[in-house]
Amino acid sequence: MENGLVSVDRWSDGSQIYFLTHLHSDHTKGLSSQWSKGPLFCSRLTAKLFSLKFPDFNLSLLRVLEIGLWHSISLISPSSGSRKTIKVMAIDAHHCPGAVMLLFRGDFGSLLYTGDFRWEMSSERASKGRIALLNALEENTVDILYLDNTYCNPYYAFPSRQIAAQQIVDIVASHPEHDIIIGIDSLGKEDLLLHISRMLKIKIWVWPERLQTMHLLGFNERFTTKTNLTRVRAVPRYSFSIDTLEGLNQMRPTIGIMPSGLPWVVRPGKGDDILSGSLLTTLYRRSKLNENAGVLIEEQIGKAETVKRLHKYIFSVPYSDHACFSEIQEFIKLVRPTNIKGIVSSSSCYVEPLYYFGRLCGAKQPENNVHHKKRRTRKGEKGAVDINFVYSEKRRGKGTNVGILNVSVRGGRVSALRRVQRGARLAGSDCPD
Ligand SMILES: [Zn+2]
Repeated sequence: MENGLVSVDRWSDGSQIYFLTHLHSDHTKGLSSQWSKGPLFCSRLTAKLFSLKFPDFNLSLLRVLEIGLWHSISLISPSSGSRKTIKVMAIDAHHCPGAVMLLFRGDFGSLLYTGDFRWEMSSERASKGRIALLNALEENTVDILYLDNTYCNPYYAFPSRQIAAQQIVDIVASHPEHDIIIGIDSLGKEDLLLHISRMLKIKIWVWPERLQTMHLLGFNERFTTKTNLTRVRAVPRYSFSIDTLEGLNQMRPTIGIMPSGLPWVVRPGKGDDILSGSLLTTLYRRSKLNENAGVLIEEQIGKAETVKRLHKYIFSVPYSDHACFSEIQEFIKLVRPTNIKGIVSSSSCYVEPLYYFGRLCGAKQPENNVHHKKRRTRKGEKGAVDINFVYSEKRRGKGTNVGILNVSVRGGRVSALRRVQRGARLAGSDCPD
């Protein structure tokens, strides 16, 4: 696709139209209520939620993409001045409310941008999603797949959200005398909270802005801002930390549950020897790294993550809104793209998707893409060594022109977690899981 036509989740100057896959903050960096650079295309649900995040946004600039329908958009070629038509279809990304993948078609070929996505294989919704995607692709080849590669590493294996949600219900039910706090973002994980509410027949406390979101999504009955009505509270992820839990336990017995596919990094504080190291490090220590880079790993190295007790007050449950490695693999088998570009880069854990999946799409497998790197030992850690996967090309940050679509390449989540202070406070970041 020619430069200067289309940007996806990227908000700098120079495009005629802009697309937003979903409203998580790492996809809206650079977007503001004062936006005036051009029409912005998004799903109907994202458009509905838009004013909550951008109160003074000029809504006449929003263009709604109906899911599953082709939309034709006429643009002017910056180089020749001639008219060009691109076709675009939004496809449910199974990530958070309103999240879509975008399939583009035109004289440039066919491009599929997943945004953040989950690709479970067991639910009815998943089967519908698979049929919808196949219908959208028809018999056409996808020339470039822009992939949510957050967990593009066989170490990342976790169960379906349905199973993980039940694990959380079990934790809550087995602590009848405790208050419970659950760390969530400003959007996403509504199904989890609804499941807890239904199964345990309790309301869930959320903060006032989150209640507004719940009401817009049509969930009026099960959520409240009154603390005396429930012992289960969904709190902003940034306020969820060991310090918070320790403070709450001064008043009432309280446990915290963090639903996330991420390996948690828990930095040791004074006297916290038990918390030294990170789960990621531990996994790498325990597992034998497959150094045979040329072999497609059909069998996952990691075992499906289950509930982990990270601290006497904190449980981590692998409930994730991103596809794990095996799901990414299934997705690529279905799409069979000619080429793949990852949309998440990271300073500490990144694997070029072609490294694992090049063979599935017939592309040349990159060489020397895995580096074993000794990490500086942090104060308080006992000589832990991380085995980091590092993208061997020039590392990309912020937005970039990846391939032929102007897209946003975002920093990795593991590195973001490594910046946290003691505990798991992850300030100012949505969608880290
Ligand atoms: Zn997201």
